[in-house]
Amino acid sequence: MKRIYLDNNATTAVRPEVLEGMLPFFSEAFGNPSSIHWAGSQVSPAIETARRQVAQLLNCHPAEIVFTACGSEGDNLALKGTADALGERGNHIITTAVEHPAVLDTCRYLEKRGIEVTYLPVDEEGLLDLDLLEKSITPRTILISVMWANNETGVIFPIREIGAIARRHKVRFFSDAVQAAGRLSVDVQEAQVDLLSLSGHKIGAPKGVGVLFIRKGNPLTPLIHGGHQEMRRRAGTHNVPGIVGFGIACQKALEELTSVPRRVESLRDRLQDGLLTLVPEVKVNGSLRHRLPNTLNLCFAGIEGEALLLHLNIAGIAASSGSACTSGDLGMSHVLEAMRVDPLLGQSSVRLSLGRNTAAEDIDRVLEVLPPIVQKLRDMSPFWQAGSCCGASGGY
Ligand SMILES: *Cc1c(COP(=O)(O)O)cnc(C)c1O
Repeated sequence: MKRIYLDNNATTAVRPEVLEGMLPFFSEAFGNPSSIHWAGSQVSPAIETARRQVAQLLNCHPAEIVFTACGSEGDNLALKGTADALGERGNHIITTAVEHPAVLDTCRYLEKRGIEVTYLPVDEEGLLDLDLLEKSITPRTILISVMWANNETGVIFPIREIGAIARRHKVRFFSDAVQAAGRLSVDVQEAQVDLLSLSGHKIGAPKGVGVLFIRKGNPLTPLIHGGHQEMRRRAGTHNVPGIVGFGIACQKALEELTSVPRRVESLRDRLQDGLLTLVPEVKVNGSLRHRLPNTLNLCFAGIEGEALLLHLNIAGIAASSGSACTSGDLGMSHVLEAMRVDPLLGQSSVRLSLGRNTAAEDIDRVLEVLPPIVQKLRDMSPFWQAGSCCGASGGY
């Protein structure tokens, strides 16, 4: 049985070019890049190459790139580092109700330390009201934190417009772009972003490496103190292989930006159209217009998403309910809840996220396997009555 991986928003496979580029740094090139001797100078140029490769993807200066251990660390550093550095100026942060837990939980932590946080609501399509965002800014506001694209629904936020609002009010702007990188153009000049986080393992690099872009002139208090690495913005000996791999992944993502996302999008659309045709009473979650090319989040009325995932897994198909970070918790995803999805319907949500390795045959196979599973689960459900849940198929 061929295994099919449709959970690329949870993690991606390491690209072969990335693995190959990393290998020497596990063996002969083992030095500590901070050392001044030959072993150090064998590896320190590789870190600077990777820094330039990341900077190219983001259209920023290499000195504005700080390597971290993961996307979550970048999110923590942006929020806590700003709250600490600008504590004199203000104590208010604006974010959204649909951020990744790495942002939301950090905001809740900061609330306990006296920071006020505004959690902007979203509408039924998962979109923000920018007037409300602008009206929420006060003289005490130190940071606006809005993700570039949502990990559960793929909904894309208007980062350029938000950047312009932030500039107008002289408020720093942070965006978690972990899901956007490699799928959309992520240009920090165009978007006027001051801080931006990325994660290696979401773009074909390994787990355990991330990036925070910190625009020049936006000092942050570090999270990790110690050595002088990363111009004292992040102490700790570099994860050399991971950083090298991250650089290559960024270079490849930039090269493929005009080809791969478009191909992935046409496969996603085929999957979406197929499922909406073959399965009655399915609803797509999130704006169809402002959505990542690879993400499809659906509610299958009358069944439990978890049951569908288990059956898909038996058929060799890996997918997810909402975000991997919250599965295991009972209850509905905070993203769907914020979109005011009916709680019963929300239990039936499944996220299919495609990647650069997804093939047309994979989509055909899902279209063959998934509809009968839904039918079987509905037949078994005491609650399922056709026509009782979300009306006509298709949603918005
Ligand atoms: C995966 C993810 C993160 C966390 O990145 P890690 O490297 O796994 O810590 C943060 N934000 C978003 C939107 C994500 O999808």
